Amino acid sequence: MRILVVEDEKRVAEYLHKGLTENGYAVDLAHNGPDGLHLALEGSYDLVLLDVMLPGIDGFAVLRALRAVLATPVLMLTARDAVDDRVHGLQQGADDYLVKPFAFSELLARVQALLRRGAQQPQHAELDANRLRLADLELDLVRRRATRAGQRLNLTAKEFLLLTLLLRRRGEVLSRTVIAEQVWDMNFDSDTNVVDVAVRRLRSKLDDPFETKLLHTVRGMGYVLEDHAP
Ligand code: CA
Repeated sequence: MRILVVEDEKRVAEYLHKGLTENGYAVDLAHNGPDGLHLALEGSYDLVLLDVMLPGIDGFAVLRALRAVLATPVLMLTARDAVDDRVHGLQQGADDYLVKPFAFSELLARVQALLRRGAQQPQHAELDANRLRLADLELDLVRRRATRAGQRLNLTAKEFLLLTLLLRRRGEVLSRTVIAEQVWDMNFDSDTNVVDVAVRRLRSKLDDPFETKLLHTVRGMGYVLEDHAP
């Protein structure tokens, strides 16, 4: 498995290089946007770790250029509290994102999950990076539109982001804490009720009018989006 790390902070890049190499991955480093894009397009990588703030071309521009031709999984590294970055990254076709500073174990878990998912999907499955699909559900990330069986779902911005997260990580049970952190950028350890309320509202629009239910509760664990009961 080959991983490309695009990160201008040398210390962070070395840390990632060392950790990933120790875990059996072949790792290449790029320290700016143009080199990163060049390598990503030339080399055949199984995964790209992409920092947002980069000299030359920023991470979003690298992602856009890459997504125009390749469906390589991309995990973006963003600064803390940069909620807009995350929303933007997901819209541009990032597969996941991690907020700095992060524990290496967390990064490794995300990398492994993305590589597993990549291996399960045919490479052409999501060449159209602006659209996500599951059964009759379709998300158009550019126009920010969700439809089921061709019917428009009237979602709020947060509901759309929540659904995007669930759909990108479909088949994976997401805990309330993870959802709270990714969608609200807050630590809801003490009060994940916000998540439950949002999920209930989303479900009323996404699933209630339709026979096939997509959003499932996994008791004691969280929520999962898939086209069959977990
Ligand atoms: Ca940076």
